[in-house]
Amino acid sequence: MMRRIGILGGTFDPIHWGHLEAGLAAETALDLTQMLVITASVPPHRPQPVTSSYHRFAMVAMAVAGRAGWRATDLELRDDARSYTSRTLQKFHERGYGPSELFFVIGSDAFADIASWKDYPSIAGASHFVVVARPGFPTRDLPHRLPELAKRMARPPLEPAALDEPLILLLDAPTANVSSTAIRDRCARGESIAGLVPDGVRQHIEQHGLYASMPPRRRASDARRGTAAGGLHGQD
Ligand code: ATP
Repeated sequence: MMRRIGILGGTFDPIHWGHLEAGLAAETALDLTQMLVITASVPPHRPQPVTSSYHRFAMVAMAVAGRAGWRATDLELRDDARSYTSRTLQKFHERGYGPSELFFVIGSDAFADIASWKDYPSIAGASHFVVVARPGFPTRDLPHRLPELAKRMARPPLEPAALDEPLILLLDAPTANVSSTAIRDRCARGESIAGLVPDGVRQHIEQHGLYASMPPRRRASDARRGTAAGGLHGQD
């Protein structure tokens, strides 16, 4: 049988149950043999992360601990360059993985923007994409939004031979209606995040005071300016 490698990428600032449930849904629906969870360094098109790569990677490592086949991967963090999905997939190809062995797991909100990604449209054939519905972003809208990719979209279960060529696999599995932004806001207001992230992640956030002293919805521009509200206060 071919290897089926799941890749779950994100800023993970912090990782939460929505991410993990998307990965679990993909793992089950496509019978994945491994799940590599890749923390992004400096994501393009996005505000800079609030928390250091070290803390974000540590939280991912805690979230995957004890999950058979799941691993935290520092592939993007070891690279000075910005994290582009096309570069990440290229690294897998250089290591001998074929596009149809790779299953890039992504939320439907993020996939809807694929036409603006680096190396579009070729990137759409660099791996399978497992597009998991994010609450409020049903996958049924995607064929209309991305008509040029519609003929490659399919819904599991599929015959194994159908996966010989990279596809866009639409999954409507339920995932927690949570975002990293909402978790940061709750921390900043001193509210509990129990049940929104794995318990080890919650403890790490509390022990280090991550996100604690930020006003709600503080974005990257503040961190870059180094304003009093920004950056290091309350974190170690
Ligand atoms: P932020 O709130 O900081 O924008 P986020 O919660 O969207 O963060 P990211 O790290 O940016 O998290 O997301 C990584 C990937 O996980 C993206 O593909 C995103 O679509 C997906 N994802 C995040 N939350 C969910 C969710 N609740 N259900 C399904 N997919 C999700």
